[in-house]
Amino acid sequence: AKAAGRRTWRFFDPSMQARMQAHAALAHAMRLGIEQQQFLLYYQAQYDDQQGLIGAEALVRWQHPERGMVSPAEFIPVAENTGLILPLGRWILDAACAELARWQQHPESASLSVAVNISVLQFRQPEFVDEVLACLARHQVSPQQLKLEITESLLLNDDEMQDTINKMTELQQVGIRFALDDFGTGYSSLSYLKKLPLDQLKIDQSFVRDMLTDPHDRDISRTIISLAQTLELSVIAEGVEQLEQKEQLALFGCHAYQGYYFGRPMPATDFVQALIQPPTR
Ligand code: C2E
Ligand code: CA
Ligand code: CA
Ligand code: CA
Repeated sequence: AKAAGRRTWRFFDPSMQARMQAHAALAHAMRLGIEQQQFLLYYQAQYDDQQGLIGAEALVRWQHPERGMVSPAEFIPVAENTGLILPLGRWILDAACAELARWQQHPESASLSVAVNISVLQFRQPEFVDEVLACLARHQVSPQQLKLEITESLLLNDDEMQDTINKMTELQQVGIRFALDDFGTGYSSLSYLKKLPLDQLKIDQSFVRDMLTDPHDRDISRTIISLAQTLELSVIAEGVEQLEQKEQLALFGCHAYQGYYFGRPMPATDFVQALIQPPTR
């Protein structure tokens, strides 16, 4: 048995073996974490030049009892590979809608929207549309206030294109909006963009980061903005950390922003206190 075991191990290099064990351990811890409610949502403000605060993106956080805060960049890929993104994604949508319901009870926050990140596997579930609609109904929130962020990886497979269009159309008909996240980093062809019932392109932070110093990134940002205008989509830039980036983007015609310059992701209570009900002075 030992020899056979050895032979099997030869297919893996040690670093790969270590990585697989780390993944398995993380997946196990996640399963427990979902049961024990160790996940929470942070909210990051989205601003518009004319309307001011327009809403927030919900970003999941994992508060592990021993590991501390685990970054989604670390656990989302594991969740996607193990299917754990399905129960987690369901919880995320539910928690975001619950928060939206609280916002809708107060006039000063009733018009704010929440953007929720949706993984491909989650979107591909046959019951996805029904789950989203049931979630809105359960919390009695208006669909116009919910935005779903999808990525170009959803558009990779031609065979599933019609399914994607059908689901998006069904959700858009009740008023839910769609943003294409990380735009420009994937492989989506422009012909797909025309076919999809999208509302918004989200300029990836990798282009915004160096747009003041790298002419290439500046040109890409400008091109995405004019593409959005051509397709009659709104556009929002993520990763805006400096006033100069915001000003440059505004010159190009982008007037909605998200990034550290406007605010870091924060727990819902802090978000409400800092941005929706700022202390009167
Ligand atoms: P993303 O959807 O592109 O989210 C934006 C990421 O950029 C967030 O990282 C956010 O904290 C960070 N960020 C925002 N403003 C700035 C800025 O000005 N500068 C810099 N350097 N970074 C900024 P986060 O929260 O660590 O999330 C990382 C990724 O994990 C997300 O990228 C998304 O792909 C995934 N993710 C996060 N929450 C969820 C979720 O609820 N569901 C799913 N499926 N994926 C999620
Ligand atoms: Ca996002
Ligand atoms: Ca993004
Ligand atoms: Ca990104």
